[in-house]
Amino acid sequence: MEAPFTGGCACGALRYAMTGQPVEQTHCQCRDCQRRSGSGHSSWLVFAETPGAVVSGPASAWSVLAETGMEKRHAFCPICGTPVYLAFPAMPGIIAVTAASLDDPGRFAPRQVTWTRAAQAWDSLPPGLTAYAQMPPA
Ligand SMILES: [Zn+2]
Ligand SMILES: [Zn+2]
Repeated sequence: MEAPFTGGCACGALRYAMTGQPVEQTHCQCRDCQRRSGSGHSSWLVFAETPGAVVSGPASAWSVLAETGMEKRHAFCPICGTPVYLAFPAMPGIIAVTAASLDDPGRFAPRQVTWTRAAQAWDSLPPGLTAYAQMPPA
């Protein structure tokens, strides 16, 4: 069995461990991800059906509605402010963690990029990724 995907915030107070494999790994260039990351995109590993997802430590959260109307809850460390994971109240089995929050960010293997429509000219990503102008249909 592969080692769990573990990681957390910059100060170490908020931690997670995922025992499953990511079902998707993606860069997202939407404006929300730009604002939240302070750069051109955010990078995500999406886990589904994860009874093995363990989150420990304090988490604050804020919600945003996707264009589909689905609520997305962004969890961050209340101490250092690092965005760590994204949850979906309508789909409790799914959790997405940021690639750079992994203890070993080298395990991130992006396959796609979403929201290229909102990309900044200075944020170029490597070729070979499947590109979507917005969010692909779920
Ligand atoms: Zn922290
Ligand atoms: Zn995004």
